[in-house]
Amino acid sequence: MSRQIHVVGAGMAGLSAAVRLASCGLSVAVHEATAQAGGRCRSYYDAALGMEIDNGNHLVLSGNPATLAYLATIGSRASLATPPSASFPFIDLATGERWTVRANDGIIPWWIFVPGRRVPGARLGEYLAFGKLMRAKAGATIGETISCSGPLYSRLIEPLLTAALNTEPRSGSAALAGAVIRETLAAGGRNCRPLIAHKGLHNVFVGPAVQYIVAHGGSVNFARRLRGLAFEGDHAAALEFGDASVRLAPDDAVVLAVPPPAAQALVPGQQGPTEFRAIVNAHFRMEPPIDLAPMTGVVNGMTQWLFAYPGRLSVTISAADALLDRSREELAGRIWAEVAQIAKIAGAMPDWQIVRERRATFAALPQAEATRPGARTAWRNLVLAGDWTRTGLPATIEGAVRSGESAARAIASA
Ligand SMILES: Cc1cc2nc3c(=O)[nH]c(=O)nc-3n(C[C@H](O)[C@H](O)[C@H](O)COP(=O)(O)OP(=O)(O)OC[C@H]3O[C@@H](n4cnc5c(N)ncnc54)[C@H](O)[C@@H]3O)c2cc1C
Repeated sequence: MSRQIHVVGAGMAGLSAAVRLASCGLSVAVHEATAQAGGRCRSYYDAALGMEIDNGNHLVLSGNPATLAYLATIGSRASLATPPSASFPFIDLATGERWTVRANDGIIPWWIFVPGRRVPGARLGEYLAFGKLMRAKAGATIGETISCSGPLYSRLIEPLLTAALNTEPRSGSAALAGAVIRETLAAGGRNCRPLIAHKGLHNVFVGPAVQYIVAHGGSVNFARRLRGLAFEGDHAAALEFGDASVRLAPDDAVVLAVPPPAAQALVPGQQGPTEFRAIVNAHFRMEPPIDLAPMTGVVNGMTQWLFAYPGRLSVTISAADALLDRSREELAGRIWAEVAQIAKIAGAMPDWQIVRERRATFAALPQAEATRPGARTAWRNLVLAGDWTRTGLPATIEGAVRSGESAARAIASA
């Protein structure tokens, strides 16, 4: 019998590990608890809207190398629209002011000197905040590292970091913020072009990965929740699925790519982040106005980012725990009023949907960093993957994909 690698969880981390392992010629079986792959990065048919939507708008940046390499491997890189430049239109709902941040492609950030490219009202000295974040002390919050006030903060840094960390920035990890900035904004505009899956998350990130795994001799099994792991000495010995038990041969290995609470239930003494943050998305069924940008940043509103898709407008609100106990109707009505202002739309609210992901990501707090484990565990044939493992990044697709790669490397080299 050839060596069998079991990947538990078909989110981005599990799919990334399975794709890498399958590409190395290893025999891979993916086990997913739910009826579909994608985890927190998934598409589904929404009956209220009568169309397929994503559970949440997912943005990746052109400076996310692992994600782009993953997409190239599964053959869907071309499905992710790449704009010609790193342009981020913004609106301040309190004043009605609009501006566009346009980072130049090269590494020398001359855009910060050019009116029409930089943040209106921001002083040049404020941009030093980016450097301070990149040199932040381990364990420091963003609030301890930079001044969380002033035009640059409220008009660029706060919206950017709220989205990247899914955590109110003042309390967020300065090191994680610094890592994001280092790899994107500070690496020049060619590394921070916003890439949006206009064809839906499933069609870009998920479906082609499942096809790739199957085409390379692997299997992806749905409605297959791992209920227990049996351990013997220094290794995992069996996978318990409730209705079936799978005994592991001496060479077999397991990638556990499930969120922290599931991993902690399965692995004795497993450490991991314990605080999470919500994301709320509002979707409105209508053709976007022709002049609306694919993505607009919003200041001084409940709405944080507005995305325009074919047949749909969609709003993202990160670090949204305070909105969880508001009624869906209240949220839809208030957000629609803002969308109408941003996109200059008159008329009644179209069909809508509110999607609340309560535990969208772990809270990117400094204290969470110390709890994030590496891929290897105390058991020689069990490795971890997931956006919550020690990737050096906040909970993102890029972090999840890198974690899958690390897990695959740990197994391939074992
Ligand atoms: C609304 C929303 C918006 C987001 N926006 C962005 C964005 O703009 N950009 C970005 O980069 N990131 C974004 N993220 C974060 C990104 O989605 C996650 O970081 C990434 O998808 C996490 O992947 P993962 O594989 O680590 O975890 P998950 O996606 O949680 O995958 C874990 C999988 O394991 C399965 N599972 C759990 N327990 C078991 C078990 N016992 N047996 C078998 N299977 C099990 C689950 O069903 C799931 O499919 C967003 C997340 C949300 C929720």
